[in-house]
This record gives sequence, structure tokens and C-alpha cells, in this order.
Amino acid sequence: MIPVNTPLLGSKEREYLINCIETGWISSEGPYVTEFETKMAAFSGRERGIAVCNGTAALEIAVRAIGIKEGDEVIIPTFTIISPAQAVSKLGAKPILVDSDPLTWNMDVSQIEAKITSKTKAIIVVHIYGLPVDLDPVLALCKKHDLKLIEDAAEMHGQTYKGKPCGSFGDASIFSFYPNKHITTGEGGMVVTNSDEIAEKCRSYRNLCFKPEQRFVHDEIGWNYRMTNLQAALGVAQLERIDEFVTKKRWIGKLYDELLQELHDKIEIPIANTDYAENIYWVYGIVLKDSVPMNAKEIMTKLAERGIGSRPFFYPMHLQPVYNKQGWYENESYPVAEKMAERGFYVPSGMALTEDNIYEVVKNLKEILAE
Ligand SMILES: *Cc1c(COP(=O)(O)O)cnc(C)c1O
Repeated sequence: MIPVNTPLLGSKEREYLINCIETGWISSEGPYVTEFETKMAAFSGRERGIAVCNGTAALEIAVRAIGIKEGDEVIIPTFTIISPAQAVSKLGAKPILVDSDPLTWNMDVSQIEAKITSKTKAIIVVHIYGLPVDLDPVLALCKKHDLKLIEDAAEMHGQTYKGKPCGSFGDASIFSFYPNKHITTGEGGMVVTNSDEIAEKCRSYRNLCFKPEQRFVHDEIGWNYRMTNLQAALGVAQLERIDEFVTKKRWIGKLYDELLQELHDKIEIPIANTDYAENIYWVYGIVLKDSVPMNAKEIMTKLAERGIGSRPFFYPMHLQPVYNKQGWYENESYPVAEKMAERGFYVPSGMALTEDNIYEVVKNLKEILAE
């Protein structure tokens, strides 16, 4: 069995975790939490970091901290995990959608301006699968229309846009440390920002909005979204290895590229470069071309029968039953995202993947596509 992801945990991770156990610091009060926040903020070119229990929680507190309220509109890509959309809709605001660029699979930034109305308050860019969104046009729109920007960099540890770290753009950015991300804490997330005001709000929201001067007294309702010292210990150890991890992911991507080249009439593979970034292959995505008489689901079933893990691409927000039920997006169509959802999937690409594993995946994929 070749799982779609296996993380790489080593001696540093073990050492720091043992340190938590030996010192008794296992809650969010422990010293690794601040260390991880400081190091992750510096790594992404930011002043402040606020560690939380997962990336979805990071989005929720960030979207609230930039001031999104009931009745507001926030522009997001339709092709994304639901986390950015639900961070907006839980506040009573509406996610307004744009389609993807068929080459980069990222939000097509040329479609954003037509969606801006008097209610638009922010844009959330979501960097997809290993390549960043083309940020300069988005930054220009935010300036022109006085909009806030949140960067969902959950998949982008170690990626840059025109040489600047992903996570350094906009009013606030978020990371996830789920086990399939470039660095993991098991479950975990972080907001990074240069704004003291946003940072203070995020700190308060993550910790039940206790009044700083009077514990157990609350002016607002928050969440318990704290990260534990155990998680942060893993994070500090993993962050020390980020260069190794990015190198490994790029090696995986290049090897798949080489081996899959001959299938170019059947599949689209990720593009290796854009003008502004080199792919870090968070996952190795594949989109079936029209010449293949199967959809992604059928291919994934056949891969599973051969012991190879895979996952479907994101399912677009405009087709989500939870949003359609409330009358949203009923007559909207986003053909690029729809095609990717129907014909896209990703193959094993975790940190612990071996060269043999990659040959095995490719051999099986070729046999299935030849059927
Ligand atoms: C993984 C991911 C998230 C959510 O992170 P969790 O830690 O799983 O909650 C959000 N956005 C994107 C783009 C992701 O890939």
C-alpha cells in the first residue's frame, strides 16, 4: 500500500516532545508555543504569529479580526477547500466566487474586479497545490477599492512570490500544519500579520475573549482555538527542516514530471514554473484530458484496487449543497473549477515517499490509462 501521504518525523521532533513530557509543559502555556510563533512569523516575513489548533480556525479568527461582518461580501476562489468560505459565511457575510486559471489552477485574478460591489470588504486568495496566486494584480485591486486581503498560505510553507515569502502579503495570512502540509504539528494552524491590532484580536478570539485585566469576564464571544505545547514542539522541529522538505517535494514533482511526460495526450500535469514562482508541489495533481474515457473517481477506484492512495481535487463552492440550500450560487457556473472537480485527483507525494514508490505509482497509472 502506498498512502497518499506519510509525514517525516525524526530525532528533533522526538527530542522536543520528550522535553514537553519531562518538563510537564503540555498545554498552550508552554514555551514552544511562543517560540514557534516567533520563528514562523520571522520565516514568513511577519512581525507577529498567533498559533491555533488548525488552519480552519486560523481563517476564522483572521476573517473576524479584519472586521468582516454580517452583510459583507468577500471574494474567494470557487476552487478551494471550504475553510475560507465557511470562515466568511459563519459571520453572516457572503463569499463571492471567481473561477480558476486553467493553467495554474489558482484563482483567475482577471475575474475579480467584475465581482466587486459596494458590499465587498475583502479578498481571500488561496494558493493552490504548490503555486501561488498572481498577487500583484490582487494587491493593486485592494488598494484601488480599499479592500482587506487575507492570504490562505495553508499549502505554501517555503514558497515565494517574486522572491518574497508566501504568508507575507496582505493584512493577515494563515498557515495549516495538518500532516500533509510541508510542515506538520499533527493538527495546527497560525495567523501571521504585521498589524498589532489584528494580532491582539486574534489572540483574544483564540482564547475565549477573556478580558486581559479580568479573567472570566468577557465583552465578546470567542473560541478555544489554542495550540498545545506538544503541537508547537513538533512545529519548531519541523520548521528547522523546511529547506529539506521543500527540496524533497520539488524532487518528487520533477520525477513525476519526467515519468509522466509521455502521457501528455491523456493528462495535464502541474506546471513547473510561472513568471513569479517555482512549483513546490504541495500535492502532485493530475487532470484527465477529454481523450480519457474515465473520470477521476473511476481512476481513483482503480488505483485503490492496486494499493495506491489518491484524493479527489477540491469540490467547487458554488456546487456545495450547504450553500445551494440557502439559495446561493444556483445559476452560477465556473467551468474550469467544474472540470477540475470532475477530472482532477492527486497521487502520493508525502515527505516519506521513496523513488520506488513513485515508479510504482506511475507504472500503475500508465496501465490503468492504457485500458
Ligand atoms: C489544509 C488547508 C486548510 C485547512 O487547514 P486545517 O488545518 O486542515 O484546518 C485551509 N486552506 C487550505 C488551502 C488548505 O489546504
